[in-house]
Amino acid sequence: MDVRAEFLKFFEQKGHKVIESSPLVPDDATLLFTNAGMVPFKSVFTGEVPRPNPPRATTCQTCIRAGGKHNDLDNVGYTARHHTFFEMLGNFSFGDYFKEDAISHAWEFVTEVLKLPKEKLWVTVHESDDEAEAIWKKHIDASRIMRFGDKDNFWQMGDTGPCGPCSEIFIDQGAENFNTPEDYMGGDGDRFLEIWNLVFMQYERDASGVLHPLPKPSIDTGMGLERVTAVKEGVFSNYDSSLFIPLTNKVAELCRKPYAYATGASYRVIADHIRAVSFLVAQGTTFGRVGRGYVLRRILRRAVRHGYLLGLREPFMYKLLDTLCDLMGKQYPYLVAKKEVIAEQIKNEEESFFTTIASGLELFEKELPNTKTMFSGEVAFKLYDTYGFPLDLTADMLREKGLSVNEAEFEALMAEQKARSKASWKGSGDKATQGEFKPLLEKFGVNTFVGYTQKEAKTKVL
Ligand code: ATP
Ligand code: MG
Ligand code: MG
Ligand code: MG
Repeated sequence: MDVRAEFLKFFEQKGHKVIESSPLVPDDATLLFTNAGMVPFKSVFTGEVPRPNPPRATTCQTCIRAGGKHNDLDNVGYTARHHTFFEMLGNFSFGDYFKEDAISHAWEFVTEVLKLPKEKLWVTVHESDDEAEAIWKKHIDASRIMRFGDKDNFWQMGDTGPCGPCSEIFIDQGAENFNTPEDYMGGDGDRFLEIWNLVFMQYERDASGVLHPLPKPSIDTGMGLERVTAVKEGVFSNYDSSLFIPLTNKVAELCRKPYAYATGASYRVIADHIRAVSFLVAQGTTFGRVGRGYVLRRILRRAVRHGYLLGLREPFMYKLLDTLCDLMGKQYPYLVAKKEVIAEQIKNEEESFFTTIASGLELFEKELPNTKTMFSGEVAFKLYDTYGFPLDLTADMLREKGLSVNEAEFEALMAEQKARSKASWKGSGDKATQGEFKPLLEKFGVNTFVGYTQKEAKTKVL
């Protein structure tokens, strides 16, 4: 089943305008990346821009959750349901219909279009939301409606912005398939799989945390395409669905080792990360040292480390681009149009990390025996500073061993370095004879640029 097409068609028939996905980098300084389908509509919800006509929309929005309020980077590879990059299907009412229709549309789609078994479905509402519970009782047995507090059933885009109580739909994938201590309704396991969140947009949170009522209560929903596709295909992990199998297979081909779920975290991380990295690069984000560019770098380097674990010793991520284009190019033609450029940028970044990764890993291994529970922040800083290991990469390597990193020590060294470079920056310019360059100047004298007046001296081989 083409879940994406079915979803958009269903809501189009219910009077929603189908709108294209907006960029991953939002036009919003409070957000790192578009992390939900509602992001492009933020100013419609807040009343800053007039409501469109019709006041209903439906989208399949590409999202990134790898930083900021919603960050799933650490989950990737370990849960069956999280990605850094994913597609969120959504229907939106801008001050038009509210809880009653949002719930009945969702129920109709889930039971009549997706045809998911009713007896396996559960729903949650906010603990204060009698209204939503009463509506749900018309559709589903009261024993499968649960009330939770703000942590689970109050949704917000970021620290500020539109928000409201929400109601979610879950499918029970069976105790026989999942039995970790986290696999209960409301737990973090994968047994009760959250497929759809219906947010009753009623407030805007300001910078001081205060909630203000929105001009008109609205609806924002979000359903993960990858999760629903997996459910429809009868598999228990997104990574076992047709959206990911060609990617994990390609990784297996490159490292010449077959993929198996139980031991396949690295394959899954790579399959996930190539999507995030390729889409970000396709949309113009470049690898860098700060902000979004650094998130991009962190995602890529994490994938490279997992490739290293699989025995790969030279750039490989860029070789996944053909497979990715086969999978997603029809829906996102810009990916195909920019394939070569994306591949080249990825390859360059891989090459640069491959020059230091072995020495970094050696240092890491050397430090491990000294680590009881907390890995030295000083070594983590050296890994970062000298070998290009982002802190979360070191943390990811430690997590596999049940260890953590001394982040406070790392941050202190980072702050020191920043202060130092600020000081040396201040000391540069007309005061070049001061600061950390002083001993060098004393030793070698002032280095005058002579390139325009003298021929280049031949390098003396010692
Ligand atoms: P979870 O509790 O599983 O982490 P969530 O509550 O954080 O999910 P929402 O913010 O409610 O997710 O997002 C709406 C929907 O988007 C979810 O119901 C799910 O189907 C999908 N979704 C959320 N995060 C991810 C992710 N990292 N990867 C894939 N799909 C996701
Ligand atoms: Mg989450
Ligand atoms: Mg949740
Ligand atoms: Mg949710």
